[in-house]
Amino acid sequence: MIINHGVRGSVPTSQQNNILFGGNTPCVEIRTQKYQLIFDCGSGFTKVNLSNDLETILFISHFHHDHIQGLAFNNHFSSMKKKITITSAHSNKIDTYNILMNYYISPYFPVNFFEIIRKFKFLEFDQVTSDYKDLNIKSIDLNHPGNSYGYSITNNNKKFCYLLDNEYEDFQEKKIVKFCNDSHTVIWDGMYLDSELSDKKGWGHSSIEHGVILADKINVKNFLISHHSPSRSDKELKNIQKTFINKKVKFASENNIMEF
Ligand SMILES: [Zn+2]
Ligand SMILES: [Zn+2]
Repeated sequence: MIINHGVRGSVPTSQQNNILFGGNTPCVEIRTQKYQLIFDCGSGFTKVNLSNDLETILFISHFHHDHIQGLAFNNHFSSMKKKITITSAHSNKIDTYNILMNYYISPYFPVNFFEIIRKFKFLEFDQVTSDYKDLNIKSIDLNHPGNSYGYSITNNNKKFCYLLDNEYEDFQEKKIVKFCNDSHTVIWDGMYLDSELSDKKGWGHSSIEHGVILADKINVKNFLISHHSPSRSDKELKNIQKTFINKKVKFASENNIMEF
């Protein structure tokens, strides 16, 4: 099962005109028989029902605030009887710990974050890939200010890829196609339209049109364009989606549950 808990980029929005696709920042959950795998902890993370029965692993793509701002606010911490494994291909476990501790600190955050952070077990990314060989976890470095890392996991011969945030350049094509090929689902950054990109060169995001072209080159069942611009309305997303000829391409929509 794949659940999109947050599909909005940069900052959460809560407006009547984008409530259908959703206003929370990035967080995707995958549930398998054994695992609860979470990709990023934007504001969508607040809704993840942390399971006491499954092993939970949280993968962080990078530490821009829209990808970590939900971490301290999950509604299920109090009933959690286990630790969540947290890891990132972006930074080693000590840096990951320190970056989060320095984000959730006075004057930006009101309570002692140590009470929350001790619910997590920090592991090196390489350690996670070798400890959980059954998930066949891989990472890919992306083109983003300060770097971002994409992930793939393969469970029961089904592959899932998560690639936010990335400013697509032609030189990446071969590597990305190889990384994503033969997937059940790919989550891809399509924050802007081509017409908006000229003002936003170097901001680290791709266009919707890039995603549509790339999807044609990848053998994938579902290609979900996500990290929607905060200003993109439901009406606009619906109208753009109607133009997609390749029906495997869709916009990611919050709370949408897909089989995996
Ligand atoms: Zn982002
Ligand atoms: Zn970013």
